Amino acid sequence: MPKRVFSGARPTGRQHIGNYLGAIQNYVKLQSEYDCIYCIVDIHALTSLEDTSQLPQMTRELALDWLAAGIDPKKSIMFVQSHVPEVAELHTFLSMITPLGWLQRVPTFKEKIKLQPDNVNYGLLGYPVLMTADIILYKAQAVPVGEDQLPHLELAREIVRRFNGKFGDTFPEPEAKLTNFPTVVGLDGKEKMSKSVGNHLEIALTAEETRAKIMTAVTDPDRKFRKDPGHPEICNIYHLRDYFAAFDMKELAEKCRTAQIGCVECKQALAEGINKSLAPLRERRAEFAARPDEVDDILADGAKRARAIASETIREVKERMNLPRLK
Ligand code: SF4
Repeated sequence: MPKRVFSGARPTGRQHIGNYLGAIQNYVKLQSEYDCIYCIVDIHALTSLEDTSQLPQMTRELALDWLAAGIDPKKSIMFVQSHVPEVAELHTFLSMITPLGWLQRVPTFKEKIKLQPDNVNYGLLGYPVLMTADIILYKAQAVPVGEDQLPHLELAREIVRRFNGKFGDTFPEPEAKLTNFPTVVGLDGKEKMSKSVGNHLEIALTAEETRAKIMTAVTDPDRKFRKDPGHPEICNIYHLRDYFAAFDMKELAEKCRTAQIGCVECKQALAEGINKSLAPLRERRAEFAARPDEVDDILADGAKRARAIASETIREVKERMNLPRLK
């Protein structure tokens, strides 16, 4: 049996090239080797969303991007977290065995408190418990993570060890499947690409929109005039070209340093590269978007398959925890 992999992403709407290079491409590759479960974690989104009116649309946009990128619902289970209520049940059970101190020392909890001081809700503190429930409800053995997420996974493993120690071996300890997620810098050339910062480039843009956005991107700030030599190592366009615009990178660096190429030309080549590379994905996305019922059916089927696994786990957990049976 191939190992089972679980991963989730918040429904943040249309995905950007940072999400695509960092996670989605990896999801697609993993399907050929593992039994994959991909979840749109809408309950997690509630910890910071005060206005939830856009949640259905954001969920659909993420599903469209995943499907268009190549997540195959025949190979993988793809579903929405709240469509499998067993996760809330397992979250409650796990919360009873998770010491408060473990959660209070999680660095992201402290960061979130600073980010949303007027909305410090229980969900922020309990987030790692819900995340653990997400993973172990399906007895996943591996979770694709970047280095920065390792502390969260270690906490999930601690919760699993505690459960297994108290109630007997029930769950596998999920292992980190370390992935070299490239950190894609945003079009501002400063911060990591992120929708919240507004420096992102959505994969579903049209070719024309992509060109227009790329032309506004910040390049080497010291290169003020066309004749000035550039510094490709600090230029975001240069790094993006490595991913999208197949070119001899040494030659490009040399041309930049000696001002043989201008930033406008360089950006045009990047825009063309991105448009060419994403054209099939965009075409598939438009096809899925034109068949909303099919997307709903895919998510419903995913939830049904996920629930079949989840309900069996919950039955076992209740038995292990000695909860009285309903006649
Ligand atoms: S030529 Fe290209 S790599 Fe060099 S600074 Fe301009 S955009 Fe960046």
